[in-house]
Amino acid sequence: MTAKSNQEVVNEVLYLYELSLSVGQSLDLNQNSKGFAEALTRKYNLNAIGVWISSDQLNDRKDSSGYTQICSIPPAHIKLDQDNLLQKLLADENYMVQTCDQKLSEHIDGTTDHKGDVAILFKLKQLGYMALITPGSTEQQAHLIAKQLKSVVAKFSTSLEGCIAHHNLQYELLQKSEKDQQLKSISKFPQENPNAVFRISTFGRVLFANDPAQKILDEMKVQVGEKIPGKLMRFVRSMLLNRKDQEFELFSAGKFYDFKLIFVSDGPYINIYGRDVTKKKLAEAALASNMQSTKLILNNALEAVINMNDEGYIIYWNKQAETCFGYTEEEALGEKLSELIIPQELRNAHEQGMKHYLKTGEGPVLSKRIEIEGLRKNGERFPVELTVIPVSTSNGEYFSSFIRDITKEREAKEALEKSEARYRDLIDNASDMIYRADPSGFCTFVNPVAARIIGLPEEKLVGLHFTQLVHADYREKVATFYRDQMLDGDDTSYLEFPVNNAHNETLWVGQNVQIIRDEDRVVGFTAVARDITVRKQLLSQIQRSEEKYRGIIENISLGLVETHIDHKVKHVNESFCKMTGYDKEELLDQVIYHRLMNTAASTQFAEDRKSLEQTKHTINEVQLQRKDGSSFWCLISTAPMYSGQGEYIGAISLNLDISDRKNAEEEIRKALEKEKELGELKSRFVSMTSHEFRTPLTTIRTNVELLQFHLEQMDAADRGKLDKNFTRIESEIKRLTDLMNDVLTIGRIESGKIKFQPVQTDLVEFCQNIINQSFSEQKDGRKLNFEVQGDPCSVLIDPQLFAHVVSNLISNAFKYSRERPAPELRLIFEPSYTHLQVKDRGIGIPEQEIASLFDSFYRAENVDNIQGTGLGLSIVKQFVEMHGASISVDSAENQGSVFTVELPKK
Ligand code: ADP
Repeated sequence: MTAKSNQEVVNEVLYLYELSLSVGQSLDLNQNSKGFAEALTRKYNLNAIGVWISSDQLNDRKDSSGYTQICSIPPAHIKLDQDNLLQKLLADENYMVQTCDQKLSEHIDGTTDHKGDVAILFKLKQLGYMALITPGSTEQQAHLIAKQLKSVVAKFSTSLEGCIAHHNLQYELLQKSEKDQQLKSISKFPQENPNAVFRISTFGRVLFANDPAQKILDEMKVQVGEKIPGKLMRFVRSMLLNRKDQEFELFSAGKFYDFKLIFVSDGPYINIYGRDVTKKKLAEAALASNMQSTKLILNNALEAVINMNDEGYIIYWNKQAETCFGYTEEEALGEKLSELIIPQELRNAHEQGMKHYLKTGEGPVLSKRIEIEGLRKNGERFPVELTVIPVSTSNGEYFSSFIRDITKEREAKEALEKSEARYRDLIDNASDMIYRADPSGFCTFVNPVAARIIGLPEEKLVGLHFTQLVHADYREKVATFYRDQMLDGDDTSYLEFPVNNAHNETLWVGQNVQIIRDEDRVVGFTAVARDITVRKQLLSQIQRSEEKYRGIIENISLGLVETHIDHKVKHVNESFCKMTGYDKEELLDQVIYHRLMNTAASTQFAEDRKSLEQTKHTINEVQLQRKDGSSFWCLISTAPMYSGQGEYIGAISLNLDISDRKNAEEEIRKALEKEKELGELKSRFVSMTSHEFRTPLTTIRTNVELLQFHLEQMDAADRGKLDKNFTRIESEIKRLTDLMNDVLTIGRIESGKIKFQPVQTDLVEFCQNIINQSFSEQKDGRKLNFEVQGDPCSVLIDPQLFAHVVSNLISNAFKYSRERPAPELRLIFEPSYTHLQVKDRGIGIPEQEIASLFDSFYRAENVDNIQGTGLGLSIVKQFVEMHGASISVDSAENQGSVFTVELPKK
């Protein structure tokens, strides 16, 4: 800590001195603390100050619990409740320093602005608290400030005590003066009362009388301080005895009084309120004689009868008045009529009117029926019809009022008005023309719509005959129609006809007519006519387009049949008639299809029709019978028809003669069948002839062999001559046998007699065996080169069929490569395929013929005189395919060929 310079110390002392001067400058609580707070902010960097005084201290706030803010900078009104934060923090300390959290900040000026700022909190003795926010100060600096301020705050507290005492005194004085005021005004109250007010002692001595009371006392010749007359005293005693209020009437010195004695339970006095009712009494008395006889009548009158005297007090109230207004006779008599049954805002006018009459004898509402509002006892207002009749008697003037509750009438009237208005509205704003006519047809009423549509004012239309506007061409027809209606006695009718309007336009109307009768006599009719021009135009458009459509369908080559929901024919076109040979008349209104079809077809057709309602469309191909008995194939396409409301109303069918197509179909079918038959015949023929060929061939061969055996016994010279012939015979036999075998094999393949029976086979060994058996000794001495590539493995083959394939390919290779290098057989084993290749360096195959090689009996052009049948490769291909394998050829003429069989691994 740095030591303060002398000057700083002097300055601080001066500040504190100035501060202490600011304390206690005013006796006013708020002013005082405000002065202090302002001085504090001048000296220190503070941005909020709050000073609260406990409500217990302030007499005018005793009721509120907590602390009231009496000063704050910036202005705020924060009430601290009993368990407030400051109270808790300062429970044991007179002051403390605290960094603000949100709650403390809110406590001080209702904001959260001071969160994080350092606050100094002081306890102001038992009076309350003071809080200062020192923004930018550290807690240490705040502690220093707090210490400095300690004594000046104590002084401030003391000054507050003075202010509080002053404040409370002020308050009490104020209270007292208010009470005095009240007392004063109350004491004046009886004087201001227009009715008589007395106070008498329990012994009957008059203690007080206001001016009106003084007048009564004068009449009774009694002074304040003296005793009241004995007859009055009677009631006082009775009241004291019963300890209850008492009411009575008194006649004294020619005047009637109403008195009310009010019992004051703990006072040694009684209050009496009195009223001079002489006039009222006199009027009543006057009436009494007069009314005794009429009372009975009036009580039974349908109207409420109320009489009042010239002061407006009710002096007569009959039974109806009781029902009408809800007050009993007892309740109503003596009351002011205007106050009882006239609504507040009308009262003044009523009283003025009465006064005016009494003064001038004029009353604009008197003796007339007027409608005004009355007021029932329950506060309800209701309409009444009122007649007031002034009655002059020797006793003065009174008024007799006859009052009728017209709520119901009013309601009925309103309802009627409403319904009339509605009816009017309906007629005036209807979109239809409405008019009324007398029995002869002359208009007596038209609505504005009619006037607008026809283009003539209503008054011109009234009086016209209703047929005058009808279009000339229809006038006679319309007149006859309505004449007939009248004659037939039909009450309602509907007719459509054209009318002319004032602009010479023709409009179509649809008219509903209702006859009006008075008992049985016709007194006229009401007509509601709707402008249907647009509908008519639309209709005729539709008709035109329908005619167009009819024209088209009449002329199409398709037969058209429209049927009703019961399947009876509604319409057929010319084409259908031509198709079937019937006339239109023979078909209309008939259920025709079942007549035109055989039973099975018509049953199916009827079944399909039933589902028409659900399905949209059916198509049938059926044979129909013409009128002449001949038949033809017909394609019938049927669609359902619906009404505007979506109802199923029938069907429409288009009929197409498909005989030509059917016939063509039939011919194709027949040709196909024939071909199939031929094929079967062929294969049967082949197998049969082959067998027939083979048998004699065998016989020939056996005999040749026998002959050879015998020849061997002969001389070598002779034998040599014949050997050549034998060899040729043998060769030819072999050729024929091979051909027969091939033909037979093909026959068996075609008839599906060859079975595929695969077994796992060692292909290398399999091929080697074939070579050894059939190709080891070639006449020209050539040897087949056999080569294996890859890892040999067993393959799934039918040994018999596959042997045929391999032999055939090798034999062709030798056959078509004479005098050329020997052919090769190569087996290539790959992971997913095994290839078998037969390669020769022979004559090759012309490129354009490669595609046909595998057809039966096909031989290439370059074979010259090399023998063959053209069946071998055809059989090979079929056998290969039975293995799920394929065969391909790669060849060039005069260079050689490679045949490759690709066997998939299984
Ligand atoms: P063929 O009995 O005529 O040999 P194939 O069906 O076995 O009948 O063969 C059909 C034809 O394919 C042969 O006539 C020949 O033109 C041709 N051909 C077949 N193999 C070979 C080949 N290795 N070299 C050249 N042409 C061949």
